[in-house]
Amino acid sequence: MNTTVPNDTVSATWTRPLEQPERMPSSADVVIIGGGIVGVCTAWFLARQGVDVVLCEKGHIAGEQSGRNWGWVRKQGRDVREMPMIVESLKIWESLADDIGADVGFVQTGCLFAASGDAELDDFSSWLPVAKEYGIDTRIVDANELARLVPGSTIDWRGGLYTASDGRAEPHRATPAIARAAARHGATILTACAVRGIETEGGRVATVVTEHGAIRTSTVLCAAGAWSSLFCRSLGIALPQLKVRGTVVRTAPAEKVLDGNVFDARLGIRRRQDGGYTVAHGTILDHSITPTTLRFAFKFLPALWQEHKGLRLSIGRDFIDEWRTPKAWALDGTSPFEAERVLNPAPNPLAVKGIRENLDTVFPALRETEIVETWAGMVETSPDVVPIIEETETIPGFHIATGFSGHGFGIGPGAGKAIAGMLTGNDTGIDLSAFRLQRFFDGTPIRPQHSV
Ligand SMILES: Cc1cc2nc3c(=O)[nH]c(=O)nc-3n(C[C@H](O)[C@H](O)[C@H](O)COP(=O)(O)OP(=O)(O)OC[C@H]3O[C@@H](n4cnc5c(N)ncnc54)[C@H](O)[C@@H]3O)c2cc1C
Repeated sequence: MNTTVPNDTVSATWTRPLEQPERMPSSADVVIIGGGIVGVCTAWFLARQGVDVVLCEKGHIAGEQSGRNWGWVRKQGRDVREMPMIVESLKIWESLADDIGADVGFVQTGCLFAASGDAELDDFSSWLPVAKEYGIDTRIVDANELARLVPGSTIDWRGGLYTASDGRAEPHRATPAIARAAARHGATILTACAVRGIETEGGRVATVVTEHGAIRTSTVLCAAGAWSSLFCRSLGIALPQLKVRGTVVRTAPAEKVLDGNVFDARLGIRRRQDGGYTVAHGTILDHSITPTTLRFAFKFLPALWQEHKGLRLSIGRDFIDEWRTPKAWALDGTSPFEAERVLNPAPNPLAVKGIRENLDTVFPALRETEIVETWAGMVETSPDVVPIIEETETIPGFHIATGFSGHGFGIGPGAGKAIAGMLTGNDTGIDLSAFRLQRFFDGTPIRPQHSV
């Protein structure tokens, strides 16, 4: 049993501060809004190219989605539009620890979607042509091989889709470690520094206004995760985005019942570096209906239909809170981004109960294993569950990279490389045209390939 990092709790690292510069920079080549994996990886790639980059994070690095996710790094099952970026991302993950001089817990221990019956297995098989096109080692495994891959399980799965080269990493470590590396290469990383808005000159980006002062720049990247839609709205840009709450638990170190990542309708589970497991319910997700749900309902209908079995809709306090949140504000006063430093939703107790029950059923050897931490994260999703990456048409110099929809952690390094290329005009070989925002407004059919 590996117990090398017994005190490495998820929530403790959300608040681990990064060293701050003594003075606010007054100008930069590029300003990035958001210290999640997307903003941080972009900053890292830019800084390594000698670009003068400032990243502003309203709370802590990886305080939101990037520090709360399951830690899966997978190519398997992805929308074909994401394939070039995720293939590149895996290459970056493979040498990341050496490149940044820090352990991020990345190991290639495989990813398995387990099927209960033939129909599900056929559905999984339909992804094999994508794997073949991109030269990926994905294959169908039968019940016997599956039992060898998941030795601790009591379930008689029919078979599964398996990619041995997929992996996992430790979310609470990875993004802060990349941020430190970016800072060593010259990036300025500001935490507790909300961006209130931008000012333009002649229609172009000219200044980023933060709570601690203004930064002159011609190039801005909005990588604000779940806040991107509100930020863009304040600039007159409609960005369809909804939030879905995912509940996650961490167990104490325990017997090895599997080594990689396993998903079925009961559980999403992976082994952790500390010898415990990060576990979520396989179907339960929560969406609290807000004015934004109504505003973009039509665009999200296909995704909502796809998720209808596990998605629990509710309406309550969040509706009022969002209704009251200003949609525009003066840049010399407090903005909504300072009012909520870290989006920290409460875990859903029903999901935690379901996880415990399913864990005990699927892995009897873990029955006595304690759940030592529970948390939730707000997944932000786009209507087709694929990111939005572009320079906006209406405000030259203002770029967006958001909507990574429940699978942005694994693709984060590849996205960072591609986005850095977009910002500097360098060709990275990754075509971003499929991720343009206008696809949701120009009549392109909205077809989510898979779930959040
Ligand atoms: C429960 C859960 C499980 C998941 N599991 C996986 C998984 O296993 N594998 C996977 O690949 N992906 C997974 N994901 C998805 C993944 O975590 C996200 O897609 C990814 O982290 C998104 O990164 P980001 O940088 O775009 O956003 P975030 O990590 O949300 O970062 C955005 C940052 O912007 C900051 N910000 C917002 N507005 C402002 C402002 N005005 N000024 C300054 N800062 C601002 C926020 O504070 C935040 O820190 C999961 C997500 C959740 C919640």
